[in-house]
Amino acid sequence: MRILITGGAGFIGSHLCDRLLADGHEVIAMDNLSTGSVENIAHLAGHERFRFIKHDVTHYIYIAGPLDAVLHLASLPSPVDYLNYPIQTLKVGALGTHNALGVALAKGARFLLASTSEVYGDPLVHPQTEDYWGNVNPVGPRGVYDESKRFAEALTMAYHRYHGVDTRIARIFNCYGPRMRLDDGRVVPNFIGQALRGEPLTVYDDGSRTRSFCYVSDMVDGLVRLLFSDEVRPVNLGNPQEMTILEFAQKILEITGSRSEIAFVRPTDDRTRDDPQRRCPDITRARTVLGWEPKVSLEEGLRETVAYFRNKIIVQG
Ligand code: UDP
Repeated sequence: MRILITGGAGFIGSHLCDRLLADGHEVIAMDNLSTGSVENIAHLAGHERFRFIKHDVTHYIYIAGPLDAVLHLASLPSPVDYLNYPIQTLKVGALGTHNALGVALAKGARFLLASTSEVYGDPLVHPQTEDYWGNVNPVGPRGVYDESKRFAEALTMAYHRYHGVDTRIARIFNCYGPRMRLDDGRVVPNFIGQALRGEPLTVYDDGSRTRSFCYVSDMVDGLVRLLFSDEVRPVNLGNPQEMTILEFAQKILEITGSRSEIAFVRPTDDRTRDDPQRRCPDITRARTVLGWEPKVSLEEGLRETVAYFRNKIIVQG
């Protein structure tokens, strides 16, 4: 298959390029490199079935020749990024998704939207099932991301119903692994970077909020299975092993062997406004329809990720 991946130089996007190339497909990665990085795809330069196009998906997308699938991963998924670039976040979810769907329609290609657990907002249903409609504050600071993805899902279903585009929607829960940006502000790079530098781990508020972390190879496998399935309804992809952020900080100290302290920090900016209290995917649908569930343990995944960040920190100094 000839596949376009928007956000192809990003964290998950670049791993997806690797996987689809390994499976024998032809891959075109598109990225404006605002949060993605050429470093993530540098090893693919010169690959005969790989091409990179630097382009911002909020502008008209032109691809020469046929396409069998469009995987739309372009996004600003880190809270720090979407709080700093709120309008760009809304534009990539709305205009970017419109352009990516337009390409899929024009080429008769299958379309996969990388959506998010943030469509559930601060959920009142736990664990979250796909039929839960969510609890999002549309006018809060996180609303720019949440609503852009909710709009993207609605637009995807409109293209499916009105234009007959063959669509898939993945709701991605917290994913981690090598190629995350050390400075993207999310809890995994923050804690690992702090632990490796011997700085205090910044646990926001009392650390009682929960998350469930899925390793990137499991996530990519779920996305590929979804792409090749017949499931048009949204599918949660994530690891159902839930823990508090304080427990997660302790796990990072254990894995890194760091003697960093844990510091309880009360952010004065918007970064914890509307921060979901609890988050855990119900993956019954993914298990049943895709035969998928995460395989990589948190310890194993964190060891790989710590090794990656350790190397980054040594290189960057
Ligand atoms: N968090 C934290 N310290 C940090 C970064 C994040 O305590 O240095 C918390 C954050 O408030 C949230 C959780 O960790 O409750 C996960 O945050 P992240 O930004 O990774 O992603 P989110 O799941 O909120 O999209």
